[in-house]
Amino acid sequence: MPLAGYTPFIVAALFAALFGVERLCPLRRTWAMLAGRVLINLAVSGLAFLTALVAVKPSALRTLEWTSQQSFGLLHWFAIPSWAQLILGFLLLDLSFYYWHVVNHKVPLLWRFHNVHHIDPELDVSTGFRFHFGEVLFSTVFRVVQVSLIGMSLTTFAAYELVFQANTLFQHSNVRLPIRLERLLNAILVTPRMHGIHHSQVRRETNSNFGVVFCWWDKLHRTIGLNIPQSSIAIGIAGYSLPRDNGLWHALTLPFRKQRDYWSRPDGTVPEREATPLNQARTCLAE
Ligand SMILES: [Zn+2]
Repeated sequence: MPLAGYTPFIVAALFAALFGVERLCPLRRTWAMLAGRVLINLAVSGLAFLTALVAVKPSALRTLEWTSQQSFGLLHWFAIPSWAQLILGFLLLDLSFYYWHVVNHKVPLLWRFHNVHHIDPELDVSTGFRFHFGEVLFSTVFRVVQVSLIGMSLTTFAAYELVFQANTLFQHSNVRLPIRLERLLNAILVTPRMHGIHHSQVRRETNSNFGVVFCWWDKLHRTIGLNIPQSSIAIGIAGYSLPRDNGLWHALTLPFRKQRDYWSRPDGTVPEREATPLNQARTCLAE
């Protein structure tokens, strides 16, 4: 069986393992009812998977086939060994996903949909694939452009897909790793503490740490912010922080409703960080 055939089983096993470990060693305290949240997240994720299966995957694979036949795309235009193609393809795929994530935050129409991922009032492995099907549908266009411009092999595509999905689950998980181990991993990967800051209600923190697999793009583009202790983070989007805002129907119809002020709580106050720890640089991961 080719690599792509194993991916769903590896990802499902990782989901189960992270779900178990985050119950035993949680990183952040949890407040919302687990069962209700998980059911909503599974339902939203199910629709996202279905959309990916009928729209994103066939479009990306057909584009990949076309670029291979026509030798189209950056990696086809330079005569480089296959191992270098794999590394370069991996890096370019991840860099382009970084840009796609930034665009999802900056373009109001796309943010309406990506916001559905962010209004989850808690963050754990079940948030990992909780994306509105509309966001997944928009990403079809991005994936066609991405795959055709980069022009990677099917092996690179499949290998990145596995790492992408695995790290998406890992970075959203509520697993408490020893800080020294996480800092080591965070020299390369986007880790749970780093991505936890991206899900903070503080606007500046939501608009930081956009990386998916590698943490380097945030460092390179100065969108990194690691000096926020997890115990001080309120997860979610302030304007959508009432319990009923995260109901399934509300979440699915949210992009089509009149939008609220995302950054103010229902009582009108704006979540701000009173004092960022001055003894730590933005590039040093806080506990
Ligand atoms: Zn985001």
